[in-house]
Amino acid sequence: MSPAPAGEATPVNTSSSARLVSWPPLAGSLLMLVPIAVVSLLVWQTAGAALQGTVTHYLVLTVAVLAFSAFTGNSGILSFGHAAFMGLAAHVTGVLTIPVAQKAIFLPDLPLWLAGLELHFLVAGAIAVVLVTIVGFLVGIPICRLGGASAAIATLGLLIIVYGVLVGARDFTRGSQALIGVPRTVDIPLALLFVAIALIVCRIFRDSLPGLELRAAREDEPAARAVGVDVHRRRLLAWTLSACIAAIAGVLLAHELGVYSPREFYFQITFAVLVMLIVGGMTSVSGAVAGAIVVTILIEVLRSVEESINTVWFDEPTVFGLTDIGLSLAILGVLFWRRNGLFEYREIEDFVLSPRKAPAGSLTATPERVARDGGLEVRDVTRMFGGLRAVDSASLSLKPGEIVGLIGPNGSGKTTLLGCISGALECDAGTIELDGADITGMPSHLIARRGVGRTFQNVRLFSNLSCQENVKTALAAGSTGSRPARMTERCLALLGELGIADYASRRAGTLAYGLQRRLEIARALALEPRYLLLDEPAAGMNESESDELLAILARLREVRGPGLLVVDHDLSLIMRLCDRVIVLNKGEVIAEGTPEDVQSDPVVIEAYLGRRRTAERATSWSTARE
Ligand code: ADP
Ligand code: MG
Repeated sequence: MSPAPAGEATPVNTSSSARLVSWPPLAGSLLMLVPIAVVSLLVWQTAGAALQGTVTHYLVLTVAVLAFSAFTGNSGILSFGHAAFMGLAAHVTGVLTIPVAQKAIFLPDLPLWLAGLELHFLVAGAIAVVLVTIVGFLVGIPICRLGGASAAIATLGLLIIVYGVLVGARDFTRGSQALIGVPRTVDIPLALLFVAIALIVCRIFRDSLPGLELRAAREDEPAARAVGVDVHRRRLLAWTLSACIAAIAGVLLAHELGVYSPREFYFQITFAVLVMLIVGGMTSVSGAVAGAIVVTILIEVLRSVEESINTVWFDEPTVFGLTDIGLSLAILGVLFWRRNGLFEYREIEDFVLSPRKAPAGSLTATPERVARDGGLEVRDVTRMFGGLRAVDSASLSLKPGEIVGLIGPNGSGKTTLLGCISGALECDAGTIELDGADITGMPSHLIARRGVGRTFQNVRLFSNLSCQENVKTALAAGSTGSRPARMTERCLALLGELGIADYASRRAGTLAYGLQRRLEIARALALEPRYLLLDEPAAGMNESESDELLAILARLREVRGPGLLVVDHDLSLIMRLCDRVIVLNKGEVIAEGTPEDVQSDPVVIEAYLGRRRTAERATSWSTARE
């Protein structure tokens, strides 16, 4: 592969099939909504009150499932807390809408201004939703700083606390007794309208750039930070949005039931909704809705079977629990068949529609050349792990356009040093300067946005996102500020530059290993980095793959001109590629110079091959692999 002249449009590999990209979220929302709307409206027009009530109830539950999925699906953090938002909203709207005469009987201790208030349910509902969204935002600030299991436990705490508050606030809620007299105004069309709104909002959020960044962090948090994603902020956005949708579900449920106590918004509904989400597929909005439908139908069928068995075969005593047992078995069956739920990571259009061809004009890239001034300066950086000095007062410098190799025996601190530079690890001493600015201790997503890209020793892709989405995350989160309309084009161009454009719509986790490494480089390039840190980019590659990589990296320097810091096992690759080589041993820099100088430095040979063989002066570096 010969280097293309700088700044010139780079023709990308146009080999086989057309590039395929995914559909816009609205297409998927409509595919899901149309059948639901047809069936529900048919029931509304033709069925009796009982069936209408059931359908309304489950439409409302679908809104609740969507609320959970907006947070849990995108962030990967299981939430037990959203029923708390539903309960709060239901009680606020209840107190504001119960007729004054009934309040005087059932809530005699209300403050006067509330006792005399009787609002229209839409006004009361809107007030409840706004209040609960604000509460959601505030409690989300600490919760979203946590991750994984601790965040899930915190949401459980929230559920328990809010339940306690609702039961305790007797004057407003009647404690554990039911609120009575809330206007029952929710029917099928109204519930359906909110299902549509919630579904469309959830789909748009999932496919939006912040949604994509959050899903990337769900797949791999350190890798997401390394491409500039502010994980806490994205989580908080999803949490607040989902609190708002949960509040809507709570208001709808209140005006559907008319009579309810805090118990209605506790564990039972939390688990019912989580079961729907798990059965349908946690990470897919269509899956959440499908889960609600499947579980609902199962419950209804099992319940009618249970009733008929009881009336036909048993007089006394009746057999209870068949519905629950049957439901549990059915759920186990679904999960046994599909571990990640019915829809897994896919949306409905991925099943129904074949992927679109990429828009025309997306096959050429005009890479930006980075400016040559400035540099990355690492001074006397030390990083300890317990008593071990993994990096010991190491210094190095890297200029844009330069390729520097970082070698050293296993465990000599190369990966740790890359971690310190990229902000993934804190330094215990020393400073790191980026183009004259001190970046020591800066969070990794900010360092990434300042133009430091990296890849990882063990490939860290967003495995369940497509290749295109992997690159798009970095485009969105990085500093490059691309307009969304041009993003698909730029993604395809970057993938093309690494020779993997044909895999744009494939899930990253399904690529062959060598291609995954290339995708990781494409993703880092989306930051338009001035400095690119590559941790063993050729590890696990055969000779021809590593030769191709060498050509790609050489061309990258020609065309884009970032500074490359390359850690690798393959010393022959390092020697052919690099202008300068730095050697680490036990965390310390023991040599630095041109590849020729370093190769013949006795200290280096000793570090690599041990004392005994120093005299022999190993002739072939390629045998000196770690
Ligand atoms: P290299 O990349 O050169 O093989 P590393 O930077 O991975 O070396 O490791 C340097 C030393 O630091 C090793 O002794 C390793 O065991 C230790 N180390 C690396 N990461 C951690 C960690 N997260 N916790 C504890 N020790 C670590
Ligand atoms: Mg390493």
